[in-house]
Parts: sequence; C-alpha cells; structure tokens
Amino acid sequence: MLSLTVPDTTRLRINGDRLRADFEELAEIGATVAGGVSRVALSNEDLEARAWFANRVEDDGFIVRDDDAGNLSGVMFCPNPNAPTVLLGSHLDSVPNGGRFDGSIGVLAGLEVLRVMKEAKLTLPVHMEVINFTDEEGCWQSLFGSRGLTGQLTTAHVSDLHTDNSTFRAALQRAGIHPEDVTKAGRKPSQLKAYLELHIEQGPQLERAECTIGAVTHIVGRSTLRVTFNGQAGHSGTTALDKRRDAVQGAALFILQAHQFVRDEYPDGIFNCGNVVVKPGLFNVIPEQAVLTVECRHIEEDILAEMEGAIEMLSQRCADEYQLSVGVVRTAHMSAAHMAELCLQAIEDASRLIGTSCKRLASYAGHDAQMLAHFTPSGMIFIPSLGGVSQNPREFSRWEDVVAGANVLLHAALKLAQEAKA
Ligand SMILES: [Zn+2]
Repeated sequence: MLSLTVPDTTRLRINGDRLRADFEELAEIGATVAGGVSRVALSNEDLEARAWFANRVEDDGFIVRDDDAGNLSGVMFCPNPNAPTVLLGSHLDSVPNGGRFDGSIGVLAGLEVLRVMKEAKLTLPVHMEVINFTDEEGCWQSLFGSRGLTGQLTTAHVSDLHTDNSTFRAALQRAGIHPEDVTKAGRKPSQLKAYLELHIEQGPQLERAECTIGAVTHIVGRSTLRVTFNGQAGHSGTTALDKRRDAVQGAALFILQAHQFVRDEYPDGIFNCGNVVVKPGLFNVIPEQAVLTVECRHIEEDILAEMEGAIEMLSQRCADEYQLSVGVVRTAHMSAAHMAELCLQAIEDASRLIGTSCKRLASYAGHDAQMLAHFTPSGMIFIPSLGGVSQNPREFSRWEDVVAGANVLLHAALKLAQEAKA
C-alpha cells in the first residue's frame, strides 16, 4: 500500500555562505567607488546582472523563464502542471548610486530558498518560482515588471500618449523586450498561490525596536499632485508690498501650513513638497507663477483620498490670502495595499520556528508586493536597515539579519506551499 509521508522540514535552513557568495558577486556588477551599486533598469549594468542571474538559475538546475515585460525567473516545477505557483522575488535594478541590499537580497534569497528545497528533495504541491521584476525603481516606469505580471500595463505606459517614451522603447528593445508586447505579460490570479518578498526596511522602525524581522501589514498609497499658484508679475521695486499678487508667498504659506496640517490631522500620513518652479524666476520681478510638486502618502486608500481633498482646500485658502488663483492636478497615483493575513501569519510562524523576533509594521516605501497584493495573497518580510539609510551607497544590513530574513522566507514559503495541499 502506498503511503505518503510529509517530510519534516522544520530543520531546513538556508546556506548563508552560499547566499553571501552570490551577494558579493552580484554587488560587483555596477559597483561604485562609494561602495554601492548603480544598476539602473535596462542599463548595461542591469542587463549584465540579469544575465548573471539567468546563468545562476541554470547552473543550479532550474528553468529560466522570462515574460513579455522582461521579468526574469528561475522555476522549480512540481509534477502537476496545473498546480499554482508560490512566487518569491524582488528586483535587481537600483537607483543611480544606490545600495547593494535594496532588491538584491529578495531575489538572491528566493533563489537560495529554491536550492534548499531542491537539495531536500521536497515534492511540493506547487511550482516554486523566484522572479526579478523589471524596473522596480521606476527609472522608466515605476513597478513596470510587477504591473506587467498583474496585467496592469497598458500601451499608454510605453506609447507617447502622455509623455515622450521613445528612449524607454529603445531601452526595452535593446534588452530584447518588444514594447508592443509588454501588455501580454499578464498572468491569471489562479496561476499563483501567493507572493513573498524579502526586502530591507529602508527605515528605522526595526532597529529602534531591536527587532530582526518585520511582517509588513500595509504598503503606503502615494499621490503626486501638481499645485499651481497664479498671481501677477510686476516691478519688484515700484509695486507696494500690500498690493502684490505674489505667487511665491501663497505657495510658501501653503507649504508650511500643509506640513503642519498633515502632522496635526493625519498621524499616519506623509506630506512632501519636493520641487518648486517659479516664473518668471527673476530677482527683480514679482513671481507670477509657482508650480509645486507635492506628494501625499497614507497606508489607507480612503484616508489618502480624504487627505488629498483637504490639501486642495487648504491650497485654495492660501491662494485667497494673496488674491491668487490655484489649480491642483493629480499627476500620479499608486494605491495603498494590504498584505494578506495568510502571509502575515506564515511570516510570524516562520520567525517563531527559527527563533527570531518579529513585529508587524507598515511600509512607507513602494515595492513590487504593492502590485501583487491586488492580485494574489502577498507578504513582505523586512530586515533592519542600519540607521534607516537606503537608496544610498551607505545602505547596510547586518549579514546575520539577511540570513534570518532568508530563513523566514524559506519557512513562510514552505508553509504557503504545503497549505496548497489542503
Ligand atoms: Zn527595493
């Protein structure tokens, strides 16, 4: 009589030395003198990193797979071709002059998890896949690859409908990605069981709490607004101070009040004014126009919308103060995402199993998991960033934390994979 035994996987651990060897080899691609990496999406360095990853996947005996949005994967198939996939991943691209850990550890740890499962000769009821998403950092289009996989790319993302995308199309083509095909990268939700991503926190919460693992509950929603104050140009010497319609004064009042307003009214909200363009921009002319680029963030989508409305009303009050007109246009938006309770529990259970501390927290930075969360149960595992520093060559995480994060990824993935049997 055939009896099926479930192997005891609780003692499985990733190989930290092997993971570190991969990490150091990858960090040489696009290495900067400051000790970080520059692997901007679709640059020579990014293409080199992708080729390196594909070779590694093949050397380890997994199947290399790519899709029409340039996402690159290593797959360990299970015997049932119709089984769903547990997807692990992150991104190998970086911001210009970025750090070595952001994105890389998620992809490399995913590959290491597959190796450990293969060495243990596990027969899982799911396919296991590690994926490198194209252009997570948004050098061309933010979260391009994960948008593609979740069927959220449209021709507008690569055409000249809103902006000139000719150089983006050229860069895609150079990487062997056909711009006219990127919308075909979408999968069906039924093809996936879950998505897990290991990433550095890029903030100080875990370090402050002296905690090794963060189980991410939400990923923040973001809206970019263009706020334009219009007044009247005039001679800076001959126009009385109380007779001016000075666009910069209205803008300045708005910037200060908006910061205070969000601090007072939206404790989980973020406001930033990162750019101000003044016209005509001359020292001896009263500013006629001030165009502000503003960002609002909140972890709850409906509160973010409410916050944006309140910010718009505030801009009107500030404009009235100086007899200005004002217009607010939302130029970009990324929906907030909730991570799945199923994945949160798998991460917490895995942390308990390997004996490491774990706390729930929200992410105020965007990630590929934000796209995946609207598509399949998704979870993110954070490890501490020293000093909260990120997107900077000084970005650093302790190696023992990387190993702990990779072990949590392994056991959370195993839990989700084994649950698929039920
Ligand atoms: Zn990242």
